[in-house]
Parts: sequence; structure tokens; C-alpha cells
Amino acid sequence: MRYARQRVLPEIGDAGQAALASARILVIGAGGLGSPALLYLTAAGVGLKQAGGCIGIVDDDTVDLSNLQRQILFTEADEGSAKTTVAASRLQALNSDTDIRIFQTRLSTENVLEIFSGFDIIIDGSDNFDTKYLINDAAVRLGLPVVYGSILGFEGQAAVFWGKEGPCYRCLYPARPESHVPNCAEAGTLGGIAGMIGTIQAVEACKLALGQVHCQAHGLAPLLGKLFLTDARHWDTQTLHIEKRDDCPVCSITPDQIRLPDAKPQQCATAPAAMNLNDLQGLFESGIPFTLLDVREPHEWANGHLEGALHIPLGRLLVAPEVLDSLSRQEPLVVYCQHGMRSARAVGHLREHGYDAFNLLVDWSQLNEL
Ligand SMILES: [Zn+2]
Repeated sequence: MRYARQRVLPEIGDAGQAALASARILVIGAGGLGSPALLYLTAAGVGLKQAGGCIGIVDDDTVDLSNLQRQILFTEADEGSAKTTVAASRLQALNSDTDIRIFQTRLSTENVLEIFSGFDIIIDGSDNFDTKYLINDAAVRLGLPVVYGSILGFEGQAAVFWGKEGPCYRCLYPARPESHVPNCAEAGTLGGIAGMIGTIQAVEACKLALGQVHCQAHGLAPLLGKLFLTDARHWDTQTLHIEKRDDCPVCSITPDQIRLPDAKPQQCATAPAAMNLNDLQGLFESGIPFTLLDVREPHEWANGHLEGALHIPLGRLLVAPEVLDSLSRQEPLVVYCQHGMRSARAVGHLREHGYDAFNLLVDWSQLNEL
């Protein structure tokens, strides 16, 4: 009765409904994309306890008032609560048969393989490049399909990446962009655009669960080897063909040779662009490589500076391109000055040029105590 409206479809039927029930689908991010995806998957009877299926949710964030504009799993009453637990209770209320599994954590190099190993299909609802590459590389390594989605302004993209059966995300975009690409927190988006792409992701995940990858007898073709693009400003919509690349950094090697990208502070507007000495201590202890940069004048540097820092006065940093080129884009830059103003200027300049840069606000009196 409950699923009658979809069971009646020849593409689904009883066998398809059973396939959905036993599917194990993991959604990364309970945000603008994850919210509609999770709601539609749960409503459709995906991941039922009695069938051995499940729906997983990975998120380490709490609900903020500014999320409600597009993250339709949440209400005003949820502000400040963990997204995973709120999402789980909302979804459980929608369908008590669903086996909801939550991972209250940020996806990282250390946990991604273990988390992914309990699932058959991954939905990428993340909002930053570091996570998208991590998801891709781990999924190629494990042979799992990833239903990709991304939004910016009025534009949205969706695709299925599956290294085992076709191209992966790196076949399309081999490496993260050099220049700073704004995410939706910076550039903005309309809630419905997230709803549209998240819904496409739910549909694609269901199609994969229905097992129609090879068998297109029912005319169901997943977005594998295709990139769906739409611009809602005037509904320019196209589906591009994507080839698997012979020189893809991950598809061209064997799965066990794939080295997962190192976790690093996110290039993301929601990540704090400012740090204090305690954050610096934490970064130092994490073992993540980073560059400490002092942008003060030579006489200030001579009076004392942080150990291990590189010295480039702000004036030189802003005008000399060869100085920028000498800095590594592979690791975050932690920039400081005397009062945080010049370093803020430097961070803005570095971010414009594609560097992960953070403004370290140094309390010099605290430093003397340390
Ligand atoms: Zn590839």
C-alpha cells in the first residue's frame, strides 16, 4: 500500500521495491542537497531494516538559522542541535522501517574507508572541493558509485561517477581548482536549486539501486558518463558526455595504489578564516603540514617572530607575482602580523589566488607567557 504509486511502475515493480528496500545508501552532508535526497530516499522505502538495507548520514555540523532557507530537514526548533540526530528523528518519523545510521563526524582520510565500507552507493552532498576529491578517491578505491551534485547561484550540476564502470570525478576535473572558486555560502544560492539537484541525486541513487546500470531494458539510464547541467535563470539545460581519461590520476592506477588526499583545513567560507594561538597549536599537533607566514616589516621581524615562520612583508607579497609562486599551494598558509589587519589583507590576496590562507590573530602578551 505504502509504495503502491511507485510499485505500479514497470521499471520498479515488486522486484524493484525489494531492491530499494535492501539498498545501503550513504549521504555525505545533511545540508541543502542532503535534505531532499534523504527525504525522498526514506519516503521511497530505501534502506529498510527488515530487508538488511540502510541509509547513512555523515555530518559534523549543527543547525544554524541561515541553513533553514534550503535545508528542509530542519525547523526553527532545531537551531543549535546536531544535524545528524535531527535528521535521523525527522526521517524516522517519516518511515519507521528505515534503518538510519548516523556518523557525527567530518569525513576524513582516516575514517572514509571504514565508513564507506558499510554502503553500496554514495551520495555526495558536500559543499567543498577537498571533500569531493576525498569521496571520489575513496569510492574509486572501493569500487563504489558516487552520485555527485553541486550548486552555485541559479546553476546546478549532477552526475554519477563510478570508476569501475565509467569515468570518475577526477576524469572530469583531475585536480582541485587553482583559483578560489566561491561556494554557496559565499556566492549564495536559491533554496529550490539545492532542492532540485538533491532530488536528482535521490532519483539517480534509486536507479542505481534498481540495478539498471547494464540492463537498460526498462529505459532507465543513470547519469553515468554524463554531466547534467542546468541554469535556472533561463532554464538552459544540457547533458554533456564525459569520457574516462587514460591519464586520470586515480583510474589509471590499481585501486590499492590510490593514496587518499591528505585532510587539511577546508577552503570553505564556513571554515574559520581567522585562527588564534590555540588553533595554531592544534594545527601543529595534528601533523598537517602548513606554512607560517609573517607579513610585517623587516624591523618588526628583527624584534622577534614566531619560530619556523617565513618572512614576506605585505608590500612585497601584494605586488610581486614571483613571491606568490614561491609559496606552496599544497598546504595551508597561516598568516600573521602585529594586529591582524595586514595579515587579513594578505589572506584575502592569497585566497584570490587560490591559496588556502588563514589569518592568525596573535596575542603577543599571551605569546610571551608561552
Ligand atoms: Zn577517473
